[in-house]
Amino acid sequence: MSETHAALHARHRAVLPEWLALYYRQPIEITHGEGRYVWDADGKRYLDFFGGILTTMTAHALPEVTKAVTEQAGRILHTSTLYLDRPMVELAERVARLSGIPDARVFFTASGTEANDTALLLATAYRRSHQILAMRNSYHGRSFSTVGVTGNRNWSPTALSPLQTLYVHGAVRGRGPFAALSDAEFIAACVADLEDMLGQTGGDVAALIAEPVQGVGGFTAPPDGLYAAFREVLDRHGILWITDEVQTGWGRTGEHFWGWQAHAAAGPPDLLTFAKGIGNGMSIGGVVARAEIMNCLDANSISTFGGSPVTMAAGLANLNHLLENDLQGNARRVGGLLIERLRAATAGNDAVREVRGRGLMIGVELVEPEPPLPGGAPGGSSDRPSPEAASAVLEAARERGLLIGKGGGHHSSVLRIAPPLSLTVAEAEEGAAILQEALDTVRPRGERGTR
Ligand code: PMP
Repeated sequence: MSETHAALHARHRAVLPEWLALYYRQPIEITHGEGRYVWDADGKRYLDFFGGILTTMTAHALPEVTKAVTEQAGRILHTSTLYLDRPMVELAERVARLSGIPDARVFFTASGTEANDTALLLATAYRRSHQILAMRNSYHGRSFSTVGVTGNRNWSPTALSPLQTLYVHGAVRGRGPFAALSDAEFIAACVADLEDMLGQTGGDVAALIAEPVQGVGGFTAPPDGLYAAFREVLDRHGILWITDEVQTGWGRTGEHFWGWQAHAAAGPPDLLTFAKGIGNGMSIGGVVARAEIMNCLDANSISTFGGSPVTMAAGLANLNHLLENDLQGNARRVGGLLIERLRAATAGNDAVREVRGRGLMIGVELVEPEPPLPGGAPGGSSDRPSPEAASAVLEAARERGLLIGKGGGHHSSVLRIAPPLSLTVAEAEEGAAILQEALDTVRPRGERGTR
């Protein structure tokens, strides 16, 4: 580790919480970026396949965003929502139209957590119930209410909660009791589980909150249409549907602008939350809801930093760039190529259980290989997650100049690949080649090079 990084790491540890996890045995400081590349304090260059946790949505140092931020910062940084805020009104108009929700109202916050917290406040106030349905293996934020709907022990540090949460099956296709079923049978089993849960519950449930593709959970998703099937049940009970698009929004999944559109037969959700990518690094979160729901609060509510002009200016410039350059289409095309390339690169590697995802949201699940068969032939992949292999690949990729993320339920055994949506074919090829080399470092002994 360089002196610069080691010294900063020591200072970090002396003053910041232990639970604020850092990547890498020797953590790095990223000092600047351009396009899909970033540089650390030693001047080493990396191809960035994680975009600051899916936040650098379009590109690092995108000139349009830099210009919008600089110009707005030169005029005024902050006014608060007590005064009319032109960039906030403009971005709200754009987001309301794009959301697909009729008669939509938009409330801006400073983070995804706060967006989901607001959605939970609205749904529980509207339905006069503190009961919430959430998906197993979910992640919705770090506040007291959102850890209460986070079905992932690694990220839910207290069992105390202002909500009564009922966890249902469905967001993880490839594991759990229904994994062996066909897609149609899987959906039917999850609907039966939901109905069973509602049958056991006294009182009226307020809402279901769900990520269309689970982010922190390891880029897992249900078969398309599951939430449409859920919606039929929810509608019978008057239960609202909150879609958490903090990771899946703005075209990242390639085929769709929003993750919920893979379940479009259900029509738009009642509430939609967003954050991360829209600000391209500036802190913007928000919730969209039908007017009737958004306006149901009978007291004032304010986020002092929500909708701050400098963040809104960044959001508008970023959104314009995204739409004008059809980055959703790029995510579909380049993401499709990248996933195929990764599937080919990992075929025959018994440490890899699955390469999954859509668009530029790709997960590589790592497991312990089975022992070799008698006679020495490889034993194949097991179902046992290997967080050790995931950490080793993360390190090996970094050494070779590629930044990726990890996640995956209780085990953190899934590599998460989510580059900025402007990724080029050449960069996809470059990243896939580095990742193949990094994955080969955890290939079971004796098997290397046999593919
Ligand atoms: N929802 C989802 C799906 C997320 O992935 C995250 C962040 N990882 C959040 C909510 C919380 O967002 P933030 O960290 O901005 O509070």
